[in-house]
Amino acid sequence: MKDDCIFCKIAAGEIPSNTVYEDDSYRVILDLGPAARGHALILPKEHYADIYELPDDKAGEVFRLAKKMAGRMKSALGCDGFNVVQNNGEIAGQTVFHFHMHLIPRYENDGQKIGWTPGEPSQEELQETARIIREEN
Ligand code: 5GP
Ligand code: ZN
Repeated sequence: MKDDCIFCKIAAGEIPSNTVYEDDSYRVILDLGPAARGHALILPKEHYADIYELPDDKAGEVFRLAKKMAGRMKSALGCDGFNVVQNNGEIAGQTVFHFHMHLIPRYENDGQKIGWTPGEPSQEELQETARIIREEN
């Protein structure tokens, strides 16, 4: 646990939250500033700043939990769609530097936009980018 981390404190139950799921390793809470009704956050109880620090086994667990919660939330809330979002780094929109995964139920006419402006790279650029990533290990 990191002393000055609000999500460590929430995950440990030291700061109250609207918890929708809890086990030994995770707490799932409602986001205070939801994109839509039921917007929740998966918090590991251990502190990892972001996806780069998250251990491999935790990465698998987090996505399994996201799937379980998506099913439950779809049944409970009757949402029409579902976004799973996970931000890393300030430029990517991360504001709390304790790994978390957003579970965002979506509803017809909810007025939210979660997306990006598509680029128009050439085939050469795409091929070069793919090569650079492929050759990294
Ligand atoms: P990020 O932008 O880092 O991906 O997401 C941080 C999220 O945490 C935001 O959606 C924000 O509304 C939420 N948040 C920030 N502080 C608190 C808090 O104290 N309690 C809860 N429940 N959510 C928080
Ligand atoms: Zn933390």
